[in-house]
This record gives sequence, C-alpha cells and structure tokens, in this order.
Amino acid sequence: MDRRTVTLLSIPIDAIRQKDAIQIILEMLEGGHLKRFFKVGGQHHVITPNSEMLVESFKNDKFREVLQLASLNIPDSVGLLYAAKFKRKKLPERVTGVDTVVKLCSQLPKKHSVFLLGAKEGVAEKTAEKLKKINPELNVVGTFSGSPSEKDSVEIISKIKEARPHLLLVAFGAPKQDLWIAEHISQMPSVRVAMGVGGTFDFIAGVRKRAPALLRSVGLEWMYRLVKQPSRFKRIMNAVVVFPYLVVFTRRK
Ligand code: UDP
Repeated sequence: MDRRTVTLLSIPIDAIRQKDAIQIILEMLEGGHLKRFFKVGGQHHVITPNSEMLVESFKNDKFREVLQLASLNIPDSVGLLYAAKFKRKKLPERVTGVDTVVKLCSQLPKKHSVFLLGAKEGVAEKTAEKLKKINPELNVVGTFSGSPSEKDSVEIISKIKEARPHLLLVAFGAPKQDLWIAEHISQMPSVRVAMGVGGTFDFIAGVRKRAPALLRSVGLEWMYRLVKQPSRFKRIMNAVVVFPYLVVFTRRK
C-alpha cells in the first residue's frame, strides 16, 4: 500500500482514519515492512498537524521542512478536512493526537516501551498513571518534564538513552516539540517512533478539559478554547482566519 496524502500549503497530510494511524504506528514500532514510511536509520517522526501549525509552517522554513520529512502527518484539526474538501481532495476523518495516544497506549504490548517527555512538572507522571489504568501492561520506562531549550537537551537525551524507549511522546507544544524531535532523534537510537503530542498529557492527566464532543464534531473546538484560554486569541485567529485565507488565496499547493 502506498502512502496517500493530501498536500496543503506544501505539507503532505496523510489521508488516514484513526484506526489506520494506530496500525501504522504499531507497524513502525515493530520496525517491519512499512518501507514507504521508513526514514534514515529506521526512525520515524509522527506529527499531528492542525491549521495553526500549517500557518506557522508557511512562514517558518525549518518547521516546513520538518513537516515535509515526517513519516506520518496525522490530520489533527477539522480545518484540514475542510481545506482538503475545498481542493476537491479527501481526508477521511479528523484524527486527534490525544485520541491516537490513548488508543495506541491502550493496546501497546509490553515489548514496546514508552517515554513521556514534556508538560509541566508531574503531568507526565500523572498521564502515565492514567494510561496504565487503561492498559496495565503498558511499559512506561520514564517520564520527565524537561524543556525544549538547548541547555536541557543533554540531560534529556542522557535520561532517554538510559531508559531506552521505543516510543517517545514529546509534549513541548508545536512547533518546538517537532523541531526538537527532528534535531535530536538520531541521538536516541532506541527510539523507533517519536511523536509530538502538544497538550495531550494535560488532557489525559485531567489538568485541562477537552471541548465537549458535540463542539468537536462540528468544528467549533476553537470557540471553546477561546473562551477557556483567551490568551490563545492569536493562535486561534491563525487557525480560523489566516489558514483558510492562505488555502484559498495563495499559490502554494
Ligand atoms: N510545554 C512545555 N514546555 C514548553 C512549552 C510548552 O512542556 O516550553 C508544554 C505545555 O505544558 C503543554 C504542552 O507543551 O503541556 C502543549 O502546550 P500547548 O497548549 O501549546 O498545546 P497544543 O495547543 O499544541 O495542544
């Protein structure tokens, strides 16, 4: 099976459903047959792009390159589905980072170990506890809040090298988490899949609430976030105003 993508603002977004995302990541962890997804050294970078991340990639060359080189770009926001539709292409469903992490970890066999990096102090530990309640077999070999700043990277990498995880989940927020992964993944040879997960740990640990399912399903999650976190105003405007503008009016495919 070939990789099927829809290109939005020069970024290939994978035309997959939730169940495909889980299956592909599990196969990447097996290190097996998915040649179409293989990167140098057999390490995979999985990204969960949303509308505001694509706006960022429009002006940030480095981030754009990282998105273009990722093994898998999961369509994390409804905006991407509408943009694909506008281009007469199809992304079959929204696949959120948080649902992907929960579903993946709930069926991850013991042989695949996990490291949770990022979020505020204590949140990754709490996330690990919650995930282990769903899957008692889950083999969490480390958690660390850390930070994406370069001065912390030596300590983080030494912890990860010692823990030897196969799956690394990084919650530093975009684009920092994905720039960090792209820069450092080759220094952590045990890691087969590294995934930038944004606010996922906050949601799983219960530090932050997700928008009600009804709002999510009709694409109005941004409204909920705007009310809950007015400080995100600029980011939300990028997602709901700038992104559609760029998709409709720029020449970038
Ligand atoms: N974060 C972090 N270090 C940083 C910046 C952010 O650990 O320097 C964490 C933050 O605590 C949160 C996560 O990154 O858990 C993602 O934050 P954001 O609200 O940006 O999430 P998103 O909107 O991408 O889901």
